[in-house]
Amino acid sequence: MLVRLMYASRAVPAVDQEELLSILRKSKANNPAVGITGVLCFSEGIFLQVLEGGRSAVNQLYNRIAADTRHTQVELLSYEEIGERRFAGWSMGQVNMARLNPALLLKYSERATLDPYAVSGKVSMSLFEELLATASVVGQP
Ligand code: FAD
Repeated sequence: MLVRLMYASRAVPAVDQEELLSILRKSKANNPAVGITGVLCFSEGIFLQVLEGGRSAVNQLYNRIAADTRHTQVELLSYEEIGERRFAGWSMGQVNMARLNPALLLKYSERATLDPYAVSGKVSMSLFEELLATASVVGQP
């Protein structure tokens, strides 16, 4: 039983590039053992993350992440049962914002900024899929 979950959250001010790297390191260390794959995007203080895997594993991780004090306003955007993974190649991929074309953001939202709170979960998922297609996701499997 596979599920895909997507949420958005706001980083607390103390979260900088080093903290982001620490979160990614921890994710890459923990996720393979529990069969979790996904992608994390961080832009202008906003996290957008997709988690895929077994239902229990994804639910447990989401609850742990939601309790993490490094972010607030954790908002579930999408939760679905799936037949196959979309992000199977990443234990936790990272969206390379430097390679992000502003036109891609404009395609899906009113302004060229990442604001998952202002768009539907479906729109944020479409954005993720395009990022994947345009090789803007980096990080070892
Ligand atoms: P330890 O690393 O041993 O940590 C023990 C406790 O301390 C945990 O409760 C942890 O939450 C807390 N903690 C550790 N470091 C800090 C810190 N710098 N500031 C505040 N509290 C801290 N974890 C994953 O395993 N996979 C993911 O995909 C993942 N994605 C994340 C995405 C975001 C946006 C954030 C903010 C966190 C994410 N985490 C992820 C981290 C997760 O919230 C837990 O911190 C982590 O899973 C705990 O790992 P551990 O059980 O090995 O405990």
